[in-house]
Amino acid sequence: MTAPAPSPQSPPQSADTGDYVVPPPETVWLPVADGAGRFPVRRVYCVGRNYAAHAVEMGHDPDQEPPFFFAKSPDNLVAGDGVFPYPPATSDVHHEIELVVALGRGGADIPVETALTHVWGYAVGLDMTRRDLQGEAKKLGRPWEVGKAFEHSAPCGPVVPVETCGHPAEGAIWLTVNGETRQLGDLSQLIWKVPEVIAFLSRLFVLRPGDLIMTGTPAGVGPVTRGDRLHGHIEGVGDLKVDVR
Ligand code: MN
Repeated sequence: MTAPAPSPQSPPQSADTGDYVVPPPETVWLPVADGAGRFPVRRVYCVGRNYAAHAVEMGHDPDQEPPFFFAKSPDNLVAGDGVFPYPPATSDVHHEIELVVALGRGGADIPVETALTHVWGYAVGLDMTRRDLQGEAKKLGRPWEVGKAFEHSAPCGPVVPVETCGHPAEGAIWLTVNGETRQLGDLSQLIWKVPEVIAFLSRLFVLRPGDLIMTGTPAGVGPVTRGDRLHGHIEGVGDLKVDVR
């Protein structure tokens, strides 16, 4: 057997030469909370069932599971307060309020002890879910994308730098719908804490600056309907207001 041929040189980076054969996707970004600069988004990882009470409401035993992950597409993000258009192909769209971690440094096999040094900031996000399609996928052993990674499925507030908010490990996380409390928890109830989530994830994927991690939702998930106003809040991080249209 001969050695593999050396790989050809990469084609020139062509952002400025105009030779893309279809329009290239734009970089997705979130505003930074103090208005200075933009946080560019590379990937959006999500943690499943990371609050015990939510795991129980979804019919699972929270004590027996290591963390598991799924992903949304960066262009599923809706930056800041805004509108969530009710999506097609579903009649059961649920809200999931979540603490979002924004990575400033990447890496693989990141130790728990130093994981927080990879965090650039935090945001308030919603993991909007087509629960009926997700449920069907679970039942059939199929992937979750149709339930999770659809257009506008990730409303997300501005990224608050760590210098401003520190590393929030406790504090209220809640969501109201039309002023009525639907979800209420505390960041201290996370089964897998942020450093552990980063460490686990970095054994599965090479993390990079610009990656977001949605850390899971507390109990109280439920359906939204057109005309609803969602208001999410995380103590020390901020607010997110979304209208369902
Ligand atoms: Mn979620």
